[in-house]
Amino acid sequence: MSNYKDAINSYLQLQGHKALQLRAVLFDMDGVLFDSMPHHARAWSQVMQAEGYDFSPMEVYMNEGRTGSDTITTASLAQRGTVPTKEEIDRICKAKCDLFATYPETQPMQGALELVNKVIACGLTPMIVTGSGTPTLLERIAVNYNGLFAPEHIITSFNVKRGKPFPDPYLLALEKGGFNPDEVIVVENAPLGVQAGVAAGLFTVAVNTGPLEEKVLSEAGASLVFPSMPTLAGEWESLYAALTAK
Ligand code: CA
Repeated sequence: MSNYKDAINSYLQLQGHKALQLRAVLFDMDGVLFDSMPHHARAWSQVMQAEGYDFSPMEVYMNEGRTGSDTITTASLAQRGTVPTKEEIDRICKAKCDLFATYPETQPMQGALELVNKVIACGLTPMIVTGSGTPTLLERIAVNYNGLFAPEHIITSFNVKRGKPFPDPYLLALEKGGFNPDEVIVVENAPLGVQAGVAAGLFTVAVNTGPLEEKVLSEAGASLVFPSMPTLAGEWESLYAALTAK
């Protein structure tokens, strides 16, 4: 509990808020609500390598959070020094989505539904802020999360021009939900996602559900890092008490 208080106090001091007035929790989707990253990593690296890019599965984890278009543009600029054409972006995105759709169905992340239920039981609004545009997953939110996320509370790659690590998706979530920065917290699993939450001025909690070292998430600016979603769900009552302490 004391390290929660320390992390919260550092955030409040930095942002110039007196206290958090918690009203909502903004969840990232891939690697937080769905255990989808191993499939994304496989599909991206296979399709990018077929297009002549050097793109290992680990590279996918380091780019996680970017929109598909931004992922391809970043790789093209770094490896070829050129901006990809719209045709190339569309071709690669389609190939990646098509390949992803052939994999076995992605499962919800263990512990995630429990956490969402706890968040709602505390009277908070759950929202989703994702860089994903994968139709197969977006369609499954309603099914796997029992309609707990209102459609107007889901921000996807289709809603913003600039994706993570820019703050835009999180700023749009605040606007759509009608929340101030001191009224929400973010739950992210990837360095660029953490950077986006922090850039939007939000208290950002990381869950390390992938293969990266924990310090990558702290260095990206996460106020707290948990080793898994079940751990965060188990710690929720203590964390919530610290977040709402006056
Ligand atoms: Ca993620």
